[in-house]
Amino acid sequence: MKRRRIFERDDFRCVYCGERFAPEQLTIDHVEPRVRGGDRSDGNLVTACGACNTLKGHRRLSEFLRAEATARANFFQYAVHVWPRLLRVLKEDLDKEELD
Ligand SMILES: [Zn+2]
Repeated sequence: MKRRRIFERDDFRCVYCGERFAPEQLTIDHVEPRVRGGDRSDGNLVTACGACNTLKGHRRLSEFLRAEATARANFFQYAVHVWPRLLRVLKEDLDKEELD
């Protein structure tokens, strides 16, 4: 099962709060949302706990990480399997938003 494989890859750790959880408390989050053309490849998927996924809500990842400094630090520490291209775009978005 794909979800399980992603959870195992991420060591059952939420990339936003950095805590480890039981599989039933975890969700899969898309780095680049499906509505923005994100696919279901492993490098576009990260493990997130239910609470963090709820906190993030419908915000774009860059918006969420900009607002939540701890989540931002954890994401760049733990989301090491995300495609480099997506990480680069994300960092560019964060830099841009800081200028607003
Ligand atoms: Zn979390």
